[in-house]
Order: sequence, then C-alpha cells, then structure tokens
Amino acid sequence: MTALTDEDDLEVWIDQELCTGDGICVQYAPEVFELDVDGLAYVKDEEDELCLTPGSAVPVPLPLLRDVVDSAKECPGDCIHVRRRSDGVEVYGPDAD
Ligand code: SF4
Repeated sequence: MTALTDEDDLEVWIDQELCTGDGICVQYAPEVFELDVDGLAYVKDEEDELCLTPGSAVPVPLPLLRDVVDSAKECPGDCIHVRRRSDGVEVYGPDAD
C-alpha cells in the first residue's frame, strides 16, 4: 500500500456498476456515503447532495478518513476508490498497490 502523509488530500468515488447496495459504507461513514432510491451507494458533496454522475469524486475529510478506508476495505463490491487528488493515484481500494 502506498505511504500516506497528512498533507495528502484524498478524494473518494464509487463505481456504481459494481455496488451491491448492501449499505455497509453508509453504516461506516454516513457523512460521505448514501444509498439513493435506485438502491446504489453514492458519495455526497459538502452540501450533503448526492453526486449521481458516474465517477464523481468528493474530498475525504481527514477526521473521516478511517471510516472511509474501512468502508473501502469492507465493501463487498470492491467498488470504493480512495485516491490522492494531486496525482490521482489510488491509495485505498481495489486498485491500490
Ligand atoms: S459498501 Fe460497497 S457495495 Fe456496499 S453499498 Fe457501499 S459501495 Fe455499494
């Protein structure tokens, strides 16, 4: 796994194509994830609005990083991706080293 420093701004996105709709991510981090009426999970922006465009990414607030990382680890669809904003490298999720 790639080393991470506090200075790294991270963002998270969900691949809805693989989402099973179980809601584990919403249990871990309801501030960041929410299930929509279609039964799939989406990330939420700073205004608490669901980002319904496929591939939408939102910043990960540092206090919520552990919850978001745990969501990515537990996600049965392997579809939660956390990446560095600076270079787009995935640091947690199915495409992380
Ligand atoms: S944990 Fe993964 S599969 Fe489950 S609802 Fe969240 S994004 Fe979808």
